[in-house]
Amino acid sequence: MSDAATRHTRLLIIGSGPAGYTAGVYASRAMLEPILVQGIQPGGQLTITTDVENWPGDASVMGPDLMVRMEAHAKEMGTEIISDHVTSLDLSKRPFVAQGDSGTRYTAEAVILATGAQAKWLGLPSEEHFKGFGVSACATCDGFFYRGQEIVVIGGGNTAVEEALFLTNFASKVTLIHRRDSLRAEKIMQDRLFKHPKVEVLWNHTVEEVIGSEAPRGVEGVRARHVETGEITEIPCKGFFVAIGHAPASELVKDQLEMHNGGYVKVEPGTTRTSVPGVFAAGDLTDHVYRQAVTSAGMGCMAALDAEKFLAEQEGEPVTEAGAYAAETPAAE
Ligand code: FAD
Ligand code: NAP
Repeated sequence: MSDAATRHTRLLIIGSGPAGYTAGVYASRAMLEPILVQGIQPGGQLTITTDVENWPGDASVMGPDLMVRMEAHAKEMGTEIISDHVTSLDLSKRPFVAQGDSGTRYTAEAVILATGAQAKWLGLPSEEHFKGFGVSACATCDGFFYRGQEIVVIGGGNTAVEEALFLTNFASKVTLIHRRDSLRAEKIMQDRLFKHPKVEVLWNHTVEEVIGSEAPRGVEGVRARHVETGEITEIPCKGFFVAIGHAPASELVKDQLEMHNGGYVKVEPGTTRTSVPGVFAAGDLTDHVYRQAVTSAGMGCMAALDAEKFLAEQEGEPVTEAGAYAAETPAAE
């Protein structure tokens, strides 16, 4: 039997965003009786946004409401949802072992990692103050709100250029601010950007302050500083998009799983299988391209199906109640 401080499960799901909850729904329906550990942001990134207008079936839904519904759905299907945060994970042998911040130790025959990714921010107090009131890190999500308005994007990589180009669909003008005199983005993307009549690039500048109004709270512009001369330029805008990269939450599995593209967990193409058999990854943690709720949910489904197949293939290996494989502990039988 598992003691109070140790919980054994066939399948442990780490993360409670769209990927984690969808994995919970599918794994429960496959009778895997999964345990899902929510982490410090129950519901994931969508809980920090307002209107979501691209979740199929809902022309408009509040992000936090959608995640409450996903949680209820996973629970209803049979997922055991636990409010805890995984502080360490040992994938060196099965059963895998996860240590919870609560003191509970989780042992699992298979693990689905769905810890997501977080947008990087500049770290300015004014940026924090206007988050959700004109400051965003997701053009696909929020671009629509700035129809006919001026927008500023900061960053010089593929994300920034993609976001800037996407935002031209809505904005009257897009100013891309970059801290150097050349972009990191692919040349073909740069070409498109430079040719676009709505886009202006402000080179060698950083943003030192977001400025705006208080009643109602909203962005009115940004104060940009030339990196060499220190000269300040104020650029009016209603939307300020920070696109300086995303940080996948892969710290737990650093040095244990193969990664690529700066810390994203690598999976076999077309699957959610990682470099360790029995460990699956889904959602933004493994996706540096799409980073959407619906793609994350899709990968959560795939991960549960991949885990189900993996566990079925293990059926020949008897497992003791404590979760240790009998083959490793013959005396336990
Ligand atoms: P996340 O939602 O990032 O969830 C990760 C989960 O992992 C969290 O629950 C966290 O608590 C948990 N976790 C992390 N570390 C640990 C740990 N050590 N132990 C246990 N749990 C852990 N997408 C859209 O499709 N439409 C939109 O309108 C939209 N709007 C957005 C608005 C904003 C402001 C942001 C930031 C993103 C938006 N996105 C939108 C993107 C979307 O939110 C993500 O693509 C999606 O949430 C990714 O889902 P996920 O399940 O991979 O991870
Ligand atoms: P990225 O390539 O790391 O670029 C981040 C950009 O932000 C860089 O130009 C960087 O400037 C700038 N930056 C970082 N910190 C900053 C700060 N504090 N202040 C101002 N500027 C700052 O990130 P990304 O664009 O999100 O791309 C991440 C990965 O995903 C890359 O591998 C990329 O190719 C990939 N990606 C691919 C696609 C695609 O294939 N369609 C789309 C998006 C992303 P410097 O250049 O000076 O360092």
